[in-house]
Amino acid sequence: MGRVRSQLKHDYKPRRPLPNRLSGRGWAVVGLVAAVFGVAMLLAPGPESQRLDSGLSAAENASATSMITMQIPLPAQSNPIGPPQPGIDAPAEKDASEAVSPGGEFLAPASDGNPSEIEAEEEKIVPDGERLVVAIKPGDNLDRLFRRHGLSVADLAQMLRLKEARNALKVIKPGDEIEVTRSGDRVLSLSRKLNEELTLRIVGGADGYSAEFLANPVERRPAQAHATIRTSLFEAGADAGLSDALIMNLAGVFAWDIDFALEIRQGDSFSVVYEEIWQDERRLRDGEVLAAQFINQGRVYRAIRYQDPEGRVGYFTPEGLSVKKAFLRAPVDFSRVSSNFNPNRLHPILKTRRPHKGVDYAAPKGTAVKAAGDGRVIFRGRNGGYGNCVIIQHGGNVTTLYGHLSGFAKSAPKGSRVSQGQVIGFVGSTGLATAPHLHYEYRLNGVHRNPRTVPLPEAAPVADKYRNQFLEASRPLITRLDAINPPRLARAD
Ligand SMILES: [Zn+2]
Repeated sequence: MGRVRSQLKHDYKPRRPLPNRLSGRGWAVVGLVAAVFGVAMLLAPGPESQRLDSGLSAAENASATSMITMQIPLPAQSNPIGPPQPGIDAPAEKDASEAVSPGGEFLAPASDGNPSEIEAEEEKIVPDGERLVVAIKPGDNLDRLFRRHGLSVADLAQMLRLKEARNALKVIKPGDEIEVTRSGDRVLSLSRKLNEELTLRIVGGADGYSAEFLANPVERRPAQAHATIRTSLFEAGADAGLSDALIMNLAGVFAWDIDFALEIRQGDSFSVVYEEIWQDERRLRDGEVLAAQFINQGRVYRAIRYQDPEGRVGYFTPEGLSVKKAFLRAPVDFSRVSSNFNPNRLHPILKTRRPHKGVDYAAPKGTAVKAAGDGRVIFRGRNGGYGNCVIIQHGGNVTTLYGHLSGFAKSAPKGSRVSQGQVIGFVGSTGLATAPHLHYEYRLNGVHRNPRTVPLPEAAPVADKYRNQFLEASRPLITRLDAINPPRLARAD
């Protein structure tokens, strides 16, 4: 794969000989595409070029086909379908005080004691019986489910007279689980987890069934990590104990500034302050990236997550500028792009050369190609050496061009409006190309600009009225970022 680029032919000739982009030991970076996030950059006057160890081991192209795991949004704290649920802080006084055991004796109301006491008391409410966990199958409804397991449909009808139960059980999906305790065909209790933090429980008693909502809030614990990239972003992240999902989010935060397909180098490093989501002393997953720093080829980028009082969430530089730009640096799914690293390309003189009026991303045929920014498709079809080609007109008299495509996305015909990140086509090798790659161009007022370095318009900064609040909220995060020191290298002496 590392050699793919040598086979590329370009639709137009460079003015000067191409530096041999394949010489040198390559190393590849492979990542996963992140979800859409804000971006902005902090450009620090870094060293002109990173010194690179020429004896790098060539991690040629660890082809990453990891699954992309999307973050599951956390459920809202409040229960949309029922009454305010009794939480641990506010024990179910009413329910508990009115609860009656199957034998008819009253249970003491829950005290405002510690959570374990409350739990213990709630446990007592559950009548003895055989416990049964049933999974919803395709085409199931509750009636069918009850019949299949020999449970009383009369009990079901009675339970569904409770408004809370009716609402909470209205929608069932294959794979959902319902837990029942039974005695013969009689249903003593029924529980259904409504979301990660909320469970509906229906308990039978002398006066029939009653419903309650049990809250088990997740806890967000701050965590942090630092890593230096040796082979790939994802390996570095894994070594630092980060999940792929978190690394994707991290890459998403900086995706408007850093071309993760082509620009990651050995020696790049990052620090991240993030949340871990815990429940019942178990770590469920990584949560949001709260603050992060990425040093790419000596340039320092920082981003702070901020939610303003109107609920708008974004990532901003410590100065309050949005990290988000009108254009993505790389309009292709970088998880499937591999590129060789060539130290010559970092040479200050070579760096100024423009051997090519666009950027090539070698990627497997079929890899998704995305609109770099919002705009309108003004051309779609065969276009000489470009092969199958899409051109998008954006605001500010910018056009972007995507060449050599194997095919087009149905949802983006000529004349249609497309939004940033929307798939418009697929990597191929049509036109003058002998190996699959995306040829990407960026033109401003009709003039080719280097898509990787052209200054990009930014999204809106933090609103003036929230600026002070932002600065205050970001201070501890910045302090924390500052405090994450890279682990010291072991010394041989
Ligand atoms: Zn090209």
